[in-house]
Amino acid sequence: MQDIEAIGTLLKQPQTVLITTHQNPDADAMGSSLGLAGYLKKKGHRVTVVTPTDYPTGLHWLSGNDDVIAFEEKVRVHVSRLMEEAGVIFCLDFSSLDRIRDLGPMVRQSRATKVLIDHHLEPEAFADLAYWDPTAAATAQLVFNLINRLGDKALIDISIAECLYAGLMTDTGSFRHPSTTGDVHRMAADLVDLHIDVSSIHRRIFDNTSLDKLRLLGYVLNEKLKVRPEYKFAYITLTADELKRFRSKTGDTEGMVNYALSVEGVVMAAILIDRGEEIRMSFRSIGEFSVRELASTHFNGGGHRNAAGGRSSLSLEETEQHLLAVLPQYQQQLLETV
Ligand code: 5GP
Repeated sequence: MQDIEAIGTLLKQPQTVLITTHQNPDADAMGSSLGLAGYLKKKGHRVTVVTPTDYPTGLHWLSGNDDVIAFEEKVRVHVSRLMEEAGVIFCLDFSSLDRIRDLGPMVRQSRATKVLIDHHLEPEAFADLAYWDPTAAATAQLVFNLINRLGDKALIDISIAECLYAGLMTDTGSFRHPSTTGDVHRMAADLVDLHIDVSSIHRRIFDNTSLDKLRLLGYVLNEKLKVRPEYKFAYITLTADELKRFRSKTGDTEGMVNYALSVEGVVMAAILIDRGEEIRMSFRSIGEFSVRELASTHFNGGGHRNAAGGRSSLSLEETEQHLLAVLPQYQQQLLETV
C-alpha cells in the first residue's frame, strides 16, 4: 500500500493536520512524528502532534517536543476538538487503533482523511490512505522516503534529520538488526551529511539513564531473570509493587527484555509487567522463530517476527503460568533455532 501520489495531492492544499502515534511512544514513534511535523510545517500546514500517553524524558530534546500534547483525562475536550478540526490525521508507527488507547475511538469517529504510515504487519483497515511497508526498518525511514518521493528532500533540515535519525537508529538496534539494509545506511548517510551530531544523538538517547532505572535493572538481572534452557527461553516478571519500589517511570523498562535475549543460548525472551489495568508483555526472538505468531495467537498482541507485544487480563502469576503452558507446542521450533 503506497498511496504516495494521493498523499501528495492531499497535501497540495494547506491542511490542519493532527499526527498521532502509539502508546508509550519510543524514539521511532516520536522521531517519525516530529520529523513529519517539522516537514509539514515547512510546507505551510497547521500541525499538532498528540500522543496517547507520555513518553521518556530522554526524548524531550527532539525538535518540536514542546508543542506535543500527551493525552490525559484533563485534555480530553481539547483533543476531541483537535480531532474534529483536523482535515488530515496521520497515524504513525502503529497498525491498529487499539494501540492508541483513548485516541482510538476519536480517530475512528473523526471525519478527517486518515493516513497510515507504518511498518507493522497486518494493518487494520481504518485509514483512507496508506504508506505501509513491513520491510521498512523504521517508520522514520518511511517518512524520509515520503518526503523524498514528494520531491522535498531539500526541506529536510538538521532538526528534521535529527528526529528521523533517532527513529532509524533505535528501531534498527543501532544498525544491527537484520532490517539494516543498504537503503538504511544510505538514509543514515544522507542525514549525517546534514551535519547532525550522531554521537550526541546516541548519547542523549542511550546514555541518559536515571539512577532509579539503573537500580531497577540491577535488581531485575540479579533477582528476576529466569532461564528455561529446555525451551532456549529467558524471561522477566515485574510486579506493580516492584515498579513502585524503584520509582519506575514511563520507558524505564524499555529494552530490559533484550538482556534476557542476550543470555547465551537463548533464542526467545519475554518480559511480563503488571501495569495495574493489565499485564503487558514484550517478546523478542532471533532467527526464524516468530514471537509475533506466539503473541497474536495467545496474548492478544502482534508486532514483528523478532519483536512483538501482547497483553493479558489474568494476574501476573497466571499470565506467567499461561506462557509456560504454551511453550511445549513451540519447543521443537525453539530448539531448532540458532
Ligand atoms: P514492544 O515490546 O517494544 O512494546 O513492542 C515490540 C513490537 O511489537 C513493536 O513493533 C510494537 O509495535 C508491537 N506491539 C507491541 N504490543 C503490541 C500489541 O499489543 N499489539 C500489536 N499488534 N503489536 C504490538
